[in-house]
Amino acid sequence: MAIVVNSRFGFRYFGDIEKKIFHDLYNEKHDCRINSIISSNKGVRFEPDTEEQAIKEGYKKCELCLK
Ligand SMILES: [Zn+2]
Repeated sequence: MAIVVNSRFGFRYFGDIEKKIFHDLYNEKHDCRINSIISSNKGVRFEPDTEEQAIKEGYKKCELCLK
């Protein structure tokens, strides 16, 4: 399940609803633009908070922070 968030704390994997990409907040890069996504209300977290869950929901890995 993807849940809209208004902060970056308390979870690891962060999805961009619009681009259908997810990021690893433990390895975040400047160009991931996490703050911009949050302020646009386009950020989600996943339940459970795993890569597998994000992929299952149709999100692709960010090429900057996930390999
Ligand atoms: Zn990223």
